[in-house]
Amino acid sequence: MNQRIYQFMKDRYGFDELSRTMIIIGVLISIANIYFKNPYVNFVLILIFFYFGFYRPLSKNKTQRIIERRKYRDITKPLREFFQKSKIRAQGMQHYKYFHCPSCRKELKVPKGKGKIKITCPYCKHNFIKKT
Ligand SMILES: [Zn+2]
Repeated sequence: MNQRIYQFMKDRYGFDELSRTMIIIGVLISIANIYFKNPYVNFVLILIFFYFGFYRPLSKNKTQRIIERRKYRDITKPLREFFQKSKIRAQGMQHYKYFHCPSCRKELKVPKGKGKIKITCPYCKHNFIKKT
């Protein structure tokens, strides 16, 4: 049985993050549509589930699927970078303090608990004094 599934899926694209994200969005919209009961939304949901749940994973046109995935990654890049930056910042909060350079507005990270220190911006070389 596993061998037959393997043979069936061998040349197919499979699930990726775009399909997974769209399925999750579809489930959230369908939960919201329990209250709104819009028949057009149900039709769109069927298309979303069919395309992202069956057509894309079972597609043999891997090149086109990769192009779609790349577009998805380009569109969501600012969002992913924001969450990645927030995560790194949250991890560093206990050891570092963050300031914005008064001259160029770039974000700077300095060690916490060092008292009043003179900070030199590595980008514009502007000096300012802050308590850490
Ligand atoms: Zn600066």
